[in-house]
Amino acid sequence: RAKQRGRNTFQFFTSDMNTLAFEQLLLENSLRRAIERSEFELHYQPQLSTATGQLAGIEALIRWRHPELGLVLPGTFITMAEQNGLIVPIGAWVLQEACRQGKAWHDAGWEFGHIAVNLSARQFASDDLLDTIRAALDKSGLPPSMLELEITESTIMQSPQEAISLLGKLRDMGVALSIDDFGTGYSSLASLKQYPLDSLKIDRSFVKGTPDDADDVAITEAIIAIARKMGLKVVAEGVETTEQAEFLRAAGCDLAQGFLFGRPASASDLERQWRGVRLASVA
Ligand code: C2E
Ligand code: MG
Ligand code: MG
Ligand code: MG
Repeated sequence: RAKQRGRNTFQFFTSDMNTLAFEQLLLENSLRRAIERSEFELHYQPQLSTATGQLAGIEALIRWRHPELGLVLPGTFITMAEQNGLIVPIGAWVLQEACRQGKAWHDAGWEFGHIAVNLSARQFASDDLLDTIRAALDKSGLPPSMLELEITESTIMQSPQEAISLLGKLRDMGVALSIDDFGTGYSSLASLKQYPLDSLKIDRSFVKGTPDDADDVAITEAIIAIARKMGLKVVAEGVETTEQAEFLRAAGCDLAQGFLFGRPASASDLERQWRGVRLASVA
């Protein structure tokens, strides 16, 4: 069959695995050029106070505006960027851009709360994380207390002792620290109290089953109870229904984030939706 196709066919890319490897290679090459070509953008998702319904924070989420593929979500490229190290320069861009946008909103008089940025394990382990964060804050002029960094339990657990020291230095800089996707990792509850944290984000997989699934309700309530006892704020991610939102409010969860309130949107769309609402309700 190979003969019928002729000598010049790229026979060795025809198996699914090689096609996949080839596509990965193409993707990796275009990812390398994406920073210099300014193909990344940040989208923003609102976090609401469950008590007041007011905007209390915004999470920045990266997107890749690929010339042929269109808008590419982080699930497609963050793992690759972690593996090849590109996450370090990409993450530095995210920090700069989120701080710049947050400062612009702050200067315009919009009280949106904090701006949250995700850090991956490789960024967290990189030597210049502190410098990168300090540079983003200095260059933008964003007050450090308005920046919240989200890290996962597995990031901490890769090197728990170093994490204590690094988190302490970040806390000294005045930024807020949050554990993302909480409940899915393997950090022990006992170890949690060693870290200078500000908030826990309950993973979407638990929120999903509330208020009907008894196990998800129990886990969610337990996380809220622990967070409260430790003086941490609790954020629920992936809130999609009014029943979930009502359950979380009644259970004492501080903030809620999810498609129910808004999907991640461009800076201008987020501002139009949320700043408009707030001004209108005051008037
Ligand atoms: P994450 O930090 O846990 O972010 C929440 C993800 O859940 C986002 O997906 C968001 O769009 C999605 N989401 C929010 N509300 C709902 C909901 O109600 N239902 C459902 N089904 N999904 C919801 P996204 O933007 O695709 O990001 C996926 C992950 O990629 C993030 O999870 C985060 O781990 C990572 N990521 C995103 N931006 C960055 C970044 O700038 N740097 C790094 N290192 N990682 C990032
Ligand atoms: Mg996050
Ligand atoms: Mg999360
Ligand atoms: Mg998540």
